[in-house]
Amino acid sequence: MRELLDFSPAELADFFASIGEPKYRARQVFEWAWQHLIWDFSRMTNLPEFLRERLAEEFAIGTATPGATLMDAEEGTEKLLLKLPDGAAIETVLMREGARRTVCISTQAGCPVGCTFCATGKSGFHRDLSAGEIALQVLFFARKLKAEGERVTHVVLMGMGEPLLNYKATLKAIRNLNHPWGLNLGARRFTVSTVGIVPGILRLAREGIQFNLAISLHAPYDDLRAELVPLARKYTIRQVITATEEYVAATKRRITYEYVLLYGVNDGIAEARALAKLLRGCLAHVNLIPFNPAPGLPYRRPPLSRVEAFKRELLKRGIDATVRYSRGVRIQAGCGQLRAAHLDAMSR
Ligand code: SF4
Repeated sequence: MRELLDFSPAELADFFASIGEPKYRARQVFEWAWQHLIWDFSRMTNLPEFLRERLAEEFAIGTATPGATLMDAEEGTEKLLLKLPDGAAIETVLMREGARRTVCISTQAGCPVGCTFCATGKSGFHRDLSAGEIALQVLFFARKLKAEGERVTHVVLMGMGEPLLNYKATLKAIRNLNHPWGLNLGARRFTVSTVGIVPGILRLAREGIQFNLAISLHAPYDDLRAELVPLARKYTIRQVITATEEYVAATKRRITYEYVLLYGVNDGIAEARALAKLLRGCLAHVNLIPFNPAPGLPYRRPPLSRVEAFKRELLKRGIDATVRYSRGVRIQAGCGQLRAAHLDAMSR
């Protein structure tokens, strides 16, 4: 059985054409699944009965089993575990802040990047997610919010996985979520977070879509970065920044650089100066994220005085910077090191 959410509107139109049905069926079915969030074909009342039966034989919608939901009522953060048909497990997080309802999604089951300060990175890589599996994470929360009279306002791709290593599926999921027949979420409501996969950034620049782009930098020196973000060693920091500047030139969007502060590792004044030098003249903002200690991770959170000194040094050198504290920490939201930064950044 095929997952309907894996199909774009054009692919659905091709499917209906192939069974001798008019192409407008694609719009009807896409709207049911993505806009009305109805995943039961028998309830798609503007379709003839024989077609509803045919679709139910061939397709499933939202093929994931929701598992435990962990909530942090104080922060307004909610993590949902989803089990996929092959047993892979992914997590998606809803963050509520003011009028914003931001869903943080995974693009891979597990993560191949292996950041040494991240619990998800330590647990290894399982597989890429399909476009439908990426999108359904947003739709699960969209259904929940709909029942509460609300809607998803933003999506951040900061859960498990490296989006630009699963480029095609990721872009397809975003395009479907962005589609006027779907949730109709504007491109600027999406933030794609990457550790700096240079070909992916350049490809994204050529898409002509104004996503927000976040680069997980975490170090101003290549050797230190290779230690902290092992997969990123393939590209030098200079290559990453040059590619990112192309993205800025194409989209005119300001880039966010994420920098997790690890006590005694990358949080000294020398690193702040080196970072400022790297970003001089760039349309950039630095999110400084004091490390959140977790069992099995060999780092410590720097004291506030060190965090503030790092930030002051950046500001003194003309680099826009903010200190962010992660959300979702109490519910062990994966990649939670980064998540809050975006939520806060978008609120400004
Ligand atoms: S911090 Fe993000 S990119 Fe790095 S290992 Fe964790 S999930 Fe992967």
